[in-house]
Amino acid sequence: MAKKKRKRSWLQSLIAPEPEASSDKDKQEEVILQPALRQIGITDCPICKREVAVFLTKNSRPFINCSFCSARIFYNGRESMRRLKRKMRPVEDE
Ligand SMILES: [Zn+2]
Repeated sequence: MAKKKRKRSWLQSLIAPEPEASSDKDKQEEVILQPALRQIGITDCPICKREVAVFLTKNSRPFINCSFCSARIFYNGRESMRRLKRKMRPVEDE
């Protein structure tokens, strides 16, 4: 029963939990759609009238990114935000 433990390296790499070298450096690219964005509600897409999620940008501006018609709408002004709030159904926090 004297097995050699030579060939352990590959086994180990299978078993041993990989030390995660997750280098999350700047994931802050210029991408608008970040997974970290918080969803604040649901509203109808003004273009295709489907339900879309309302997210909040880093600048605390609501925006939607319709997955059906690919419309992207930013609510940058007071009036648009007010109208959005009127229509939007707030999403319960996670
Ligand atoms: Zn749409």
